[in-house]
Amino acid sequence: MKPAAPVTTTCTPVAYAALRYCVGDLAMNVPFFDMRAETAALRGELDRAIARVLDSGTFIGGEEVTGFEAELARHCSTTHAIGTSSGTDALLVLGMALGLAPGDEVVTTPLTFFATAGSFARLGATIVFADVRDDDLTLDADAALAACTARTRAIVPVHLFGHPAAIPRATCPVIEDSAQAIAASQLGGIAGALSFFPTKNLGALGDAGAVITDDDELADRVRLLRTHGARPKYHHVALGGNFRLDAMQAAVLRAKLTHLAAWTARRRAHAHAYRALFRAARVPAELRLPAEHPGHIYHQFVIRAPRRDALRAHLAASGIGTEVYYPELLAGSTGLAGRCGALPVATRVVREVLALPIYPAMPDVHRTLVVEAVERFYAS
Ligand SMILES: *Cc1c(COP(=O)(O)O)cnc(C)c1O
Repeated sequence: MKPAAPVTTTCTPVAYAALRYCVGDLAMNVPFFDMRAETAALRGELDRAIARVLDSGTFIGGEEVTGFEAELARHCSTTHAIGTSSGTDALLVLGMALGLAPGDEVVTTPLTFFATAGSFARLGATIVFADVRDDDLTLDADAALAACTARTRAIVPVHLFGHPAAIPRATCPVIEDSAQAIAASQLGGIAGALSFFPTKNLGALGDAGAVITDDDELADRVRLLRTHGARPKYHHVALGGNFRLDAMQAAVLRAKLTHLAAWTARRRAHAHAYRALFRAARVPAELRLPAEHPGHIYHQFVIRAPRRDALRAHLAASGIGTEVYYPELLAGSTGLAGRCGALPVATRVVREVLALPIYPAMPDVHRTLVVEAVERFYAS
């Protein structure tokens, strides 16, 4: 038998670039986020939670869901917590419960994830964008109130990056998008929407979310709409949808909820250390750190940086992962029939925001590596 010919590969510039990208990603010394670190530390607990569901034979509703809802309500200090299929569906079902319809207006921030506005636009509501505050990047309550008209049916502040947003004193309901801010603040509006997307501060092993509220009537309406408006079963009294939380996700979330306070403390410790390191570093005065707030839970640690894109490329070349939340304002989204006045602050900050690595299991030394790399960028 003839020996196999040696394998030769031709490395075209395109293939080489792709390879470098791939290897570079794997070799990130400081990844933006490490999901496996969080899951590995909890492996035994998660295995037991999942086994409990497998053994129960109940995969929709049941004790895991009601148990989680009770524990979540206690954690958030609200009367009701109602599990949903996602954070998006929590917002959607809240909009349905308020009876939003074409012609209604919803006032919100342009600097957020699409679901904040998209969920209400799906119901036919017109989205009205008001500007954000320069200091903490959340919806400016005065601008939001100024954008209200006789058709305004809801105002939706977002506790962006985990920083509590001001609750406007409005005559219409205020729905809080708390997807990034579980228990970051006391519920000040009529209801809040939580997301348990895997990378959120409390993350499921898939999609999940919840509505929190102290309003008994609204909670009842959300529960009704969550299961196709059926009451009793197969007797449909309202047009709802399937917005339920799975028993498996509920069991996983119950296990993880017991760690949330410790994880929040870790995030705050990282943020505190970042601040100290940046204060001691030689970086331009225009580089701004996130606003401080005792309720901040640092879902993200977002700086505002001169020459943001060049800085981001420099950090990537140094093996440091970063993200841009959000690269575009929603006010410019096709598919979202919105209305807005001038958005001078949002238009400026959207070019400056850069999220640095922050997650509970992040090794402490990563903070130093990040700040040193930022310092090198501005020294060069
Ligand atoms: C994640 C997120 C949502 C949507 O949550 P999903 O669970 O992904 O549907 C809504 N609003 C904001 C601000 C978010 O960050």
